[in-house]
Amino acid sequence: MLSYRHSFHAGNHADVLKHTVQALILESLKRKDKPFVVHDTHSGAGRYDLQSEHSEKTGEYVDGIARIWGLDCPKSMHPYLKAVKALNPNGELRYYPGSPLLTKSLTREHERLVLTELHPTDFPRLRQEFRGDRRAKLYQEDGYARLKASLPPKERRGVVLIDPPYELKNEYKDLVKGIKEAVQRWASGTYAIWYPVVRRQEITTLERALARTGIRNILQIEMNVDADNMDYGMTGSGMIVINPPWTLEQQMRELLPWLTPKLAQTELASHRVHWIVPE
Ligand code: SAM
Repeated sequence: MLSYRHSFHAGNHADVLKHTVQALILESLKRKDKPFVVHDTHSGAGRYDLQSEHSEKTGEYVDGIARIWGLDCPKSMHPYLKAVKALNPNGELRYYPGSPLLTKSLTREHERLVLTELHPTDFPRLRQEFRGDRRAKLYQEDGYARLKASLPPKERRGVVLIDPPYELKNEYKDLVKGIKEAVQRWASGTYAIWYPVVRRQEITTLERALARTGIRNILQIEMNVDADNMDYGMTGSGMIVINPPWTLEQQMRELLPWLTPKLAQTELASHRVHWIVPE
């Protein structure tokens, strides 16, 4: 059953981290003229209205994008902010781009986008956002199955964004299986996987499971807005990047000491950048 709706969470601290990393990966791929592919396995609706009932109910963006909107942010955040600004040309923060719109905004004519989303309400919205964009192919299908069927891509360069809702018990296992199968077909691709920090043990287990796959070159970037705790709720989030651009580690090491205090909810906020498996 699909109960998760990203519209309740769009623009929160986790989106700020996730989409900053996504934007930096896309910028790095654009350093070469050669076209690349972007696979987004869990796309969501594409665009979120921060004044919608869902957004107003949780108000999560208030402690996310709204805290840095209008600030003089470090250069590594500029690509991400450029894409958010493109949806809000009058300067007032109203709309927030999900990962597919970020990709749409930050890629070139000759790039190819493969977007999958299962939700019966969000998929038509996503399709509407990409109407007339001939670079994008959209599928209302399981993201991992489509990924497996599409690899390796003809371009031989690009990124796979994996951003599951983690609402079902087996999602961490499905994730590791999906990654293993994808990397077997396309070892040189970049894979960017988002995860929430709700129960620390699940993340530790995920890190170990990824290390056991034999895949190398796995970077982990994490930002916690509070200390780990046993209560229900997300205290932080992270991105695990397989085959990251060589610049990403340093960019995030420099950015997180600035960004974490901006988005912190208590003085116990923290961040880390480290290699789960080095190259
Ligand atoms: N990546 C989006 C962004 O950054 O804007 C947000 C994605 S949201 C966290 C997760 C999405 O995955 C939900 O919209 C959900 O409907 C969708 N979903 C859940 N299971 C899926 C599956 N097996 N294949 C494709 N999409 C799935």
